[in-house]
Amino acid sequence: MRKNEILQIYGTDYKKNTFRLLEEADLAGLIPAPGARIGIKPNLVSASEASWGATTHPEVVAGIIEYLQAHGFNNLVIAEGSWVGDTTSEAFEVCGYNALSARYGVPLLDAQKDKFHKKDCAGLQLRICNCVDTFDFLINVPVLKGHCQTRMTCALKNMKGLIPNSEKRHFHSMGLHKPIAHLSAGIRQDFILVDHICGDLDFEDGGNPVVRNCLMAARDPVLTDTLVCRLMHLDPADVPYIPMAAALGSGSMDLESARIRVIGQSSPEALPRERKIVALQDAVEEVESCSACYGYLIPALQMLKEEGLLDRLMALLPDKICIGQGFRGKTGAVGIGRCTSGFDFSVPGCPPTEDRIYRSLKEYILTHEDRPS
Ligand code: SF4
Repeated sequence: MRKNEILQIYGTDYKKNTFRLLEEADLAGLIPAPGARIGIKPNLVSASEASWGATTHPEVVAGIIEYLQAHGFNNLVIAEGSWVGDTTSEAFEVCGYNALSARYGVPLLDAQKDKFHKKDCAGLQLRICNCVDTFDFLINVPVLKGHCQTRMTCALKNMKGLIPNSEKRHFHSMGLHKPIAHLSAGIRQDFILVDHICGDLDFEDGGNPVVRNCLMAARDPVLTDTLVCRLMHLDPADVPYIPMAAALGSGSMDLESARIRVIGQSSPEALPRERKIVALQDAVEEVESCSACYGYLIPALQMLKEEGLLDRLMALLPDKICIGQGFRGKTGAVGIGRCTSGFDFSVPGCPPTEDRIYRSLKEYILTHEDRPS
């Protein structure tokens, strides 16, 4: 398989389709030696089943393992670190990876607990988990989905699971796009298998899955993400880390020269254009917030909206709801998370859960609407 190729396959037998896609891509021919240590990096952002739209379907990883073992590759490890606010060990259990590990004898590596080191990533020093240096070949298995802050997430951003939690927070204080782009220079992805089965097009941690039953194989993370933008009706320029990663030499954005092929039956169905998140973002002032914090706030606002409470909340506030590390030490009306502890009303937690934000803001409405102005 060449670097400018992307293969797609549709259907609901995910394990069988993964195997077929990898045969077509001749993955085995890309791996340097039979004894190579192969890292498999799914997206287990939080502890939720794949049908929820956030995490990599375990049957896809099962297909990868069966393919590799059938071709004599037995030095495999599944490595992942969930987002700040969730523990990877819980995600391994809930997402079906403990069972997968037991079934195939492939160990799990919790990147949240791994040691790390600083690495020069095309001029930017980033902390990277030590496990990355032990891989001879890395297979990235991201979920194609939306993201509250970067609009989309797929191949490039999935590498964030291989940095420590402290660096994940630091990424947000650097504005996300630049460090994600530089990370692509620090962690080489040798092969990409995109889970485009039912990703949530609004929220990184799922809840509104959009079923497509598609898998994609690729070798270039920049080309992959550029194609994903097209599928999601986004301009890649609206996702700055993609052109930045291309400028750093991590891949090509040239879809015109790409060879995109469907194996078997295609599906004419396009992804919907509407995004719930756009309307909700108008209620929020976000400065350097962590993914989990923001990712919990938006669904909480959605719940308030569905109950007709969001407009009532906004009518009570002099400003937007504030969230993020940029509000540390500052004052204001209503804020989310420990970073806004100096605000008149702050939902505690780091990050506060979706349910806690929802309940706290609802309580705020009920208590403040009773007050005489
Ligand atoms: S409270 Fe601040 S540091 Fe904690 S998760 Fe939220 S944005 Fe990040």
